[in-house]
Amino acid sequence: MDFASLCLHGGYEPKNGEAGALPIYPSTTFKYDSTDDVAKLFDLQASGFFYSRLANPTVDFVEKKLAALEGGVGAICTSSGHAACFLSVMSLCKAGDHVVACSNLYGGTINLLSVTLKRFGIEVTFVDQRQSNEELSQYFKPNTKAVFGETIANPSTAVLDVERIAKLAHDHGVPLIVDNTFATPYLCRPIEWGADIVVHSTTKYLDGHALGVGGCVIDSGKFDWAAHADKFPEFVEPDESYHGCVYSKAFGNAAYIVKARVQLIRDLGCLQSPQNAFYLNLGLETLPLRMEQHSKNAAQVAKFLAGHDKVTEISYPGLEGSANHELAQKYLQKGCSGVMTFVLKGGREAGVRFIDSLKLIRLEVHVADIKSCVLHPASSSHRQLNDEQLKAAGVDAGTVRISVGLENVEDIIADLKQALEQA
Ligand SMILES: *Cc1c(COP(=O)(O)O)cnc(C)c1O
Repeated sequence: MDFASLCLHGGYEPKNGEAGALPIYPSTTFKYDSTDDVAKLFDLQASGFFYSRLANPTVDFVEKKLAALEGGVGAICTSSGHAACFLSVMSLCKAGDHVVACSNLYGGTINLLSVTLKRFGIEVTFVDQRQSNEELSQYFKPNTKAVFGETIANPSTAVLDVERIAKLAHDHGVPLIVDNTFATPYLCRPIEWGADIVVHSTTKYLDGHALGVGGCVIDSGKFDWAAHADKFPEFVEPDESYHGCVYSKAFGNAAYIVKARVQLIRDLGCLQSPQNAFYLNLGLETLPLRMEQHSKNAAQVAKFLAGHDKVTEISYPGLEGSANHELAQKYLQKGCSGVMTFVLKGGREAGVRFIDSLKLIRLEVHVADIKSCVLHPASSSHRQLNDEQLKAAGVDAGTVRISVGLENVEDIIADLKQALEQA
């Protein structure tokens, strides 16, 4: 099936007489006839559902759809994007390990990697992803277990050279994890460029309607854990918590995603709820149409902003002459999503006046949604920082992040125009 057809028909295939829409199974438990049936489930010798902390039929259907959309062998839907990021790394690392991460990342992920993982004894080196392979190679250590990056970074919109960074990671014997939240598999499929594990905040475009916080982890099935047994012994040595199961033997190229579920989803309990998976599935059904239109609207908004005399800078990979345009032409041929940042003349005060003057576009701590929204970091997420500290964080006092929605683009531009006059 083509991508658009998979968005509608992937994962859930009703049999004769069954519900046409994805059924919600609001059940924590599942009934069995014999102790033998249950024993097989607990020993990982049979697949099935027994408790919704580990797996649930509604969630399972959506996981199968997401795996198909990204071209992976399996997926896990998590309670949030951050849970997905955490799960993806913690399935590879333990105290004493090291991760190489691109510095162009979502601020929350930078905090997760640099503060919280540190408390678990995992060290992360943040690197400028534009450096050459020779320069980047020096950050790898014997205890490095993964490389982490974002296809389109939030909020800088830097585009990751997935093919080059995947090869670099593989040359050092480790997998590449890509956060594909902003691109979605409609605009870019990182696995096709060599990424090994893909994560999402499904809260953003995949849901798209601001209904449910969620995330997912998708396994490409392509990383050869057994060939790197020295780095990843947990994949090739018996797991005593499952009577000595060896994941690489028992589950082949699905070893990573099975291990992530039966160890960490079991122990951390961050599976998505069936209700949220249902909302997510509704969003996925129209993903191609929405991403197409978000990208079209954003391209026009970017052009308008680039030509406005109150805007000093704009970052949108789709814009000719943008620092990321060349990478976008390789990785984002169908469009560059609806998210961009720009800098207003007049700094903090201009930013506040601009935001407060908007009538249609909403002030929201959100992004990648069908309704247009904006955020001014200097007066919100970064308001504790002075102008100098802001600069150090890579944010200007006049920086605005806009997420272009699906309203008529002329209405969006008219609102920007009148608010820019007030700024
Ligand atoms: C929002 C976001 C996250 C975190 O996801 P939540 O669903 O908010 O937990 C991670 N990565 C990126 C790129 C994001 O935009």
